[in-house]
Amino acid sequence: MSKLKNKVAVVTGASKGIGASIAEHFAKEGAKVVVNYSSSKEGADRVVNAITAGGGTAIAVQADVSKPSDVIRLFEETNKAFGQLDILVNNAGIYQFAAIELVTEELYRKQFDINVLGSVLAIQEALKLFGDKGGSIINISSGVSKSPMANSSIYSATKAALDAITIALSKELGAKKVRINSILPGATETEGTHSQGITGSDLEKQLIASTPLGRIGHPDDIAKFAVLLASDDAAWVTGEQISVSGGIYGF
Ligand code: NAP
Repeated sequence: MSKLKNKVAVVTGASKGIGASIAEHFAKEGAKVVVNYSSSKEGADRVVNAITAGGGTAIAVQADVSKPSDVIRLFEETNKAFGQLDILVNNAGIYQFAAIELVTEELYRKQFDINVLGSVLAIQEALKLFGDKGGSIINISSGVSKSPMANSSIYSATKAALDAITIALSKELGAKKVRINSILPGATETEGTHSQGITGSDLEKQLIASTPLGRIGHPDDIAKFAVLLASDDAAWVTGEQISVSGGIYGF
């Protein structure tokens, strides 16, 4: 299969979890992939090695997406390695759940800086490389953007902001042949859900019980849909926020 043949993609936060799976699925479909990471060099190298072992092409590039100079360097390295860009996936994100009494300025700023500012900075640099041919941007949002849970006020707000950016930019960038869509995953088992104590928790049990398809999501569930959205099969799709959640978030 080669739905993404001759395409170059940047996937932010691709050293683990959903981002790693998207990078691997994109490469299987023929894309050359830039595997971005913040601190997990080992994880990013593992993803790159898995891709190259399967006959694909990928490089790992460290960059903290909340830092403008890092983001500029990420896209400079992309251009140096591959000379073009067709797809950006804004996947890098953090989730820190807390009751409102425990929300600190730091918790607020960190989530907004990575989840929202990081995506904006990456979009600005990606547009320069898309050039006249245009491109596809996928923002990894969350079902909580439209159906926020208790203790997720700030995280949910970052994803609602990301969805608003998706809609506004679909109108702003359509004439430049740029498509932009949000994927809204439901609960998906990743390294992040393990380290945050979500996997195995009562919250996870409640989420599974509320999911019509009756299980937790896997990164592959999200990645396969990202392939479709990035490919020309979705050439007429922009400005959408699409739930990929086993039905728990049906809007
Ligand atoms: P994860 O397992 O914690 O992985 C997060 C990834 O983001 C890692 O590769 C991490 O890199 C990277 N990252 C974090 N901060 C970064 C920064 N400042 N700059 C660049 N990269 C950074 O997360 P996940 O569960 O796969 O979630 C991925 C995305 O899906 C997030 O946007 C999340 O909000 C969204 N989402 C997840 C779920 C879920 O249930 N898992 C549900 C809905 C939405 P390092 O390891 O190098 O730090």
